[in-house]
Amino acid sequence: MINLETPKKFKPLVSQANQVATEVFRPISRKYDLAEGEYPKELDMLASLIDGMNEGSDIGGAGATGVRRSDSDNGDGRNRNGTNLSTVLGVIELCWGDVGLLLSMPRQGLGNSAIASVATEEQLERYGGQWAAMAITEPEAGSDSAAIRTTAELDGDEYVLNGEKIFVTAGDRADLIVVWASLDRSKGRAAIKSFIVERDNPGLKLDRLEHKLGIRASDTANFRLEDCRVPKDALLGSPEVDAKQGFAGAMQTFDNTRPLVAAMAIGVTRAALEETRSCLAEAGMEVDYSVPALSQHAAAARFLGMEADYEAARLQTLHAAWMADNDRPNSLQASMAKAKAGRTCVDVTLGCVELCGAVGYGESELLEKWSRDAKILDIFEGTQQIQLLIVARQLLGKSSAELR
Ligand SMILES: Cc1cc2nc3c(=O)[nH]c(=O)nc-3n(C[C@H](O)[C@H](O)[C@H](O)COP(=O)(O)OP(=O)(O)OC[C@H]3O[C@@H](n4cnc5c(N)ncnc54)[C@H](O)[C@@H]3O)c2cc1C
Repeated sequence: MINLETPKKFKPLVSQANQVATEVFRPISRKYDLAEGEYPKELDMLASLIDGMNEGSDIGGAGATGVRRSDSDNGDGRNRNGTNLSTVLGVIELCWGDVGLLLSMPRQGLGNSAIASVATEEQLERYGGQWAAMAITEPEAGSDSAAIRTTAELDGDEYVLNGEKIFVTAGDRADLIVVWASLDRSKGRAAIKSFIVERDNPGLKLDRLEHKLGIRASDTANFRLEDCRVPKDALLGSPEVDAKQGFAGAMQTFDNTRPLVAAMAIGVTRAALEETRSCLAEAGMEVDYSVPALSQHAAAARFLGMEADYEAARLQTLHAAWMADNDRPNSLQASMAKAKAGRTCVDVTLGCVELCGAVGYGESELLEKWSRDAKILDIFEGTQQIQLLIVARQLLGKSSAELR
């Protein structure tokens, strides 16, 4: 029997996150969609509030920094996180408010969860409380992250980074950028490590900021790294190039971040469904759960189909996060959740625009905005196609060389 209820201990966090989404995010949602690139200053005060929520809680917080590996991790590469479920639940609520604003929240970047996933205790201490973006993608390496060309060469007590990073979410506003670079390109994927680069490092040069279809409140930066020097201990995790472990160390980050992106998609999907339900009700059409979908008006039947997809995506996402919280390897479920939630979000938000007609397409409501915001959730942290590829590899027991 599947229990769809939110566990009691998470209810206060969910309710606080929903309050923030309702009272802070929703009222400024359209404003920062129109004012692309302008920093949403309202978030400064809010970020301090969320820090407070995180500090006062032993179940993790609402933002990306809530993701942690537990102290019991013995370095065997297994995922042992204590707070993924609460983080996912908080992110769902906040993205019901506005996903672009969540991505603009100080100290809640995807780089923060990367740090939380793989940093040593000393690194957590040093970099905690700062805002970290994540820089993996390069002009020649998107889906195939093993193809990255950025290099990190050891020179005395420093690494020297050279390369180019594109599409870095929150890259301009963050304090730190987690940069993926290779210690030795001849050693393949095992040599790829992540490095913390301070945003004001003179070797990190901002090329430009992107204009985008959706999530316009969030900045997306392109950088060049030119002889960018970082201290030796800015390398996250172990510097050892372990051919046996391959890409596993770096990929471990995705087991934590993919359920978070899926959670973002769940939040946006729910927002669109709720808006559509009231739009249909205003038109005199109530969705009836006591009769089969196909015995109802076609619009109600469509709504029920979309809602079923939403529920499936939500359960898959909670499952992936729950597995991480319970010492179970969750790479397969994290990819399944990301694929299902990303696709559902795109399909449902567009379906809602369609069902609501002119109201869905116009700017008086947020439905058209949500349908634009949705697409990125099916792209970053691995596209739809890449998630399906990972799922297929895992189910068929094939390596990345055998199935690509
Ligand atoms: C707004 C925005 C924010 C972003 N934020 C970040 C960020 O913070 N950090 C970061 O590192 N990156 C970020 N990205 C980059 C994002 O992760 C990449 O765009 C994504 O991984 C896809 O890479 P690509 O664009 O190079 O497409 P490609 O890899 O060139 O893929 C193009 C198409 O081909 C498909 N494809 C590729 N390989 C296969 C295959 N083997 N089988 C089937 N289909 C395949 C893909 O699914 C896609 O549909 C962001 C991108 C955007 C647009």
